[in-house]
Amino acid sequence: MQLEIKDLTKTYSNGVRALKGVSLTISQGMFGLLGPNGAGKSSLMRTIATLQEADSGSVRLTGLPEGTSIPGNSMPGDLDVLTQKDAVRRVLGYLPQEFGVYPRVTAETMLDHIATLKGIANSRERKNIVDGLLQKVNLYQVRKKNLGTYSGGMKQRFGIAQALIGSPRLIIVDEPTAGLDPAERNRFHNLLSEIGENTIVILSTHIVEDVTNLCSDMAIICLGEVVAAGNPNDLVSDL
Ligand code: ADP
Ligand code: ADP
Repeated sequence: MQLEIKDLTKTYSNGVRALKGVSLTISQGMFGLLGPNGAGKSSLMRTIATLQEADSGSVRLTGLPEGTSIPGNSMPGDLDVLTQKDAVRRVLGYLPQEFGVYPRVTAETMLDHIATLKGIANSRERKNIVDGLLQKVNLYQVRKKNLGTYSGGMKQRFGIAQALIGSPRLIIVDEPTAGLDPAERNRFHNLLSEIGENTIVILSTHIVEDVTNLCSDMAIICLGEVVAAGNPNDLVSDL
């Protein structure tokens, strides 16, 4: 599987050129997108997550594994991300930079609800999936507590569980460790590094250690342009 981003541009209605021709090829595994605030990371992540239109350019997800059912797809295994939005959303897990939780809903109820929305109709199957994810993110003990009682780190782990429902092939995590204390950040890192094979995980962050600790490949983005791409150990020693 590969995500192939070519010449992506985006100018907002206020005239800000957030993406000035971004090209990147992202392979399976953990990919780090490193850049300062305002670099264009969220703009790029939202575009790939089909939540925002680009002005020009293309994004293709190629080599999807067999058995990824995409009704009506003319090229099996390949998706044109910018136009085949419904199909992309079936294989996508997205954890946005800021996400609200419904404070008076329990983690268990919320995940069950999202699993229903993702089309998992059988309640027994949903329970298995939800229980498994709650254990994976270490929230099983507190699954019957309202989300409003969760700490920042717990909410982030809940967000990962939410993003993992439906076994996504492409997972986008935008600035996940902002606001977490070191222990919570560590726990979050361990969790991310356990996300399975056959998946592309894009981790967008302004924290160098997030990338060097976790990612096998990376790019640096600044003012809407990719300024370097390659192996984190090589790139970061040059910073
Ligand atoms: P578009 O050009 O895609 O239509 P808009 O300028 O209409 O985008 O803004 C879309 C949303 O983003 C609005 O809710 C707006 O408040 C918010 N927004 C506007 N400026 C910024 C900014 N500089 N950074 C982050 N969000 C912004
Ligand atoms: P990052 O995620 O790296 O902080 P962003 O993609 O959020 O970068 O922002 C890139 C640039 O685009 C910034 O100058 C930001 O203010 C601007 N921007 C982001 N979203 C919007 C929006 N919806 N409307 C207008 N400007 C925006």
